[in-house]
Amino acid sequence: MSEVKNVKKYEFKAEVKKLLDILVHSLYTSREIFLRELISNASDALDKLRFEQNRGTEIIDNELPLEIKITFDEKNKILTISDTGIGMSHVEVITNIGTIAKSGTEEFAKMLSEVKGDIGNIIGKFGVGFYSVFMVAKEVVIKTKSYKKDEPAVEWKSDGLGDYEISELDENIKRGTTIIVHLKDDAEEFVQKWKLESVIKKHSNFISFPIYLDKEKINTVTAIWREPKSSIKKEQYDEFYKFLTYDNDPPMDVIHKSVDAPIQFNALLFIPKKSNELFFYDRENYGLDLYVRRVLIQHKNKDLLPEYLSFVKGVVDSEDLPLNISRETLQENVIFTKIASSVTSNILSYLIDKSKNDKVGYNEFWNEHGKIFKLGYMDFTNHEKYVELVRFNSSNCNDEKELVSFAEYVERMKEGQKEIYYIVGNNRSALLVDPHLEIFKNKGLEVLFLYDPVDEFVIQAIRKYKDYEIKSVQNVDLKKLNELKDVEEKKQDVEPLSVDDQKHFYSLLSKMKNILGDKVEDVVESKRLIDSASCLISKDETVSSQMKKILKMTKQDFMIDKKIMEVNPNHKLIRNLVKVFKKNSYDDFITLVTEQLYDSALLQEGNLEDPHKLIERLNKSLEQSSEWYTKINNLE
Ligand code: ADP
Ligand code: MG
Repeated sequence: MSEVKNVKKYEFKAEVKKLLDILVHSLYTSREIFLRELISNASDALDKLRFEQNRGTEIIDNELPLEIKITFDEKNKILTISDTGIGMSHVEVITNIGTIAKSGTEEFAKMLSEVKGDIGNIIGKFGVGFYSVFMVAKEVVIKTKSYKKDEPAVEWKSDGLGDYEISELDENIKRGTTIIVHLKDDAEEFVQKWKLESVIKKHSNFISFPIYLDKEKINTVTAIWREPKSSIKKEQYDEFYKFLTYDNDPPMDVIHKSVDAPIQFNALLFIPKKSNELFFYDRENYGLDLYVRRVLIQHKNKDLLPEYLSFVKGVVDSEDLPLNISRETLQENVIFTKIASSVTSNILSYLIDKSKNDKVGYNEFWNEHGKIFKLGYMDFTNHEKYVELVRFNSSNCNDEKELVSFAEYVERMKEGQKEIYYIVGNNRSALLVDPHLEIFKNKGLEVLFLYDPVDEFVIQAIRKYKDYEIKSVQNVDLKKLNELKDVEEKKQDVEPLSVDDQKHFYSLLSKMKNILGDKVEDVVESKRLIDSASCLISKDETVSSQMKKILKMTKQDFMIDKKIMEVNPNHKLIRNLVKVFKKNSYDDFITLVTEQLYDSALLQEGNLEDPHKLIERLNKSLEQSSEWYTKINNLE
């Protein structure tokens, strides 16, 4: 027996206490995942040790086999999991087990407390797995010895309630970690062999070190990514994917590649059905597992994937990298960077095939992962593929779920059309009634709808598709547009204004400019409007009003620039206003209408800060019109 000295008591950090409190006092259907977490920690510790061995580091008990042993004592309800991994020093036990280093832990604990039902995959994904043992344990003892020379063995003990004890043990212990779990009375199933065996097979089958349950090896230990594609069944892929991601659903897609020249590597990649629900808590948690000749070099390596493909999960394994490669210098390794760029282009090619052969599936992919994928506009190396893969909603679609590619857009272009058009707005219903679109509807021209702020960056990065420039509807050359044929008959063919009224109309425009003063740059006759009385146009077209709104939110002193107000001389309201103006150019009604038109246009583009005046004016006009209405209908 080892002799215990220097027992010290510590309190858990506040966030750990909170987390433990949730875990200890809740009953979850998926309690069994505690075993998966302990085995995964053991496997991590073994991976780390093997990594140090490959680097030639001096290691104590170097001859020990790398393995995980699980034993159980039915009578005393004790379950023991031990590994021959790197172990922990005294200081490491305190920092690794007593605290949670991760940021966002507090939000995470809060979220856990709100989630009902299955927390198994959330715990695993967030990486606070060790504590899940307290779902089944009334006490946990850790005995551990670091691989480093001269580090004493350490014992850690806790009931998971508020504090833990640490003490140093004598030298008898071999390198590695043993976790002794004293089970709660209601968790005795975890000292039954069949139960343990089924849990290990279910969650830990692909661990790359042997797992012995009472001397019997339980897991299969195959690197399925190195097997020929034809020999692997869908169920095996699904099983491996679940093992890798803790996802409950099978993957949306499996990409299994074996590349031999110029550089040998195998990649087994998955696209999940759902995008990461923890994205905001856990933005950094992505990457592919990198193996060299079946030996894990790094979990979640981020340099194998650009961020815009961060939804892809999986492993990459190469024969051509040295086993003793250091993680720090990976990025500078030419072979590694070639593998990384080949992985990216393989994923993009896969997606291009999918978009051609399985449109429905591709749309599902886009609606789930498009938000992240879009960020690929910065990947200039793969620009051509990216452009083919981008999707937008458009005026041509039947609803907001339908998607359009540039290729499809171009195929449908009208005779004489030389540009691709887009408009920015909050949602489809707002854009469908946007006055800027009227002339496009009239000419039967398709317009891409951009709802997401990122879309504008995407468009600006693409700029041109084939020979067609991509232009904002606000930025079009109206003369060129007017040369194109109308597809719809103008609804009410209005008589043009008489020469005399034309003059009054222009005076009315300057009057309106006076009323609005500094709020607008100018008030001018519109050549684009058909159904609406007026609209606002930006003078500086490179930045849309939507984008300016964002800039204004981030930079307080950013001024939304002055707009030009366009007025439709053929609109009934404006015709009537000309009549009023002719009679009395100082009539208050002109002020009321002008201000109202301006505010409505602001409201439409989402830039009206205070709607009170607009409502006041609206109510006033309703009151007036009710009087006219009663008069006309002889209701007095
Ligand atoms: P994670 O595994 O995501 O880091 P855990 O809560 O599962 O989070 O474990 C916390 C830390 O405790 C690990 O990162 C590791 O440093 C340490 N640890 C846990 N189990 C072992 C073990 N068997 N051997 C060595 N270190 C371990
Ligand atoms: Mg863990």
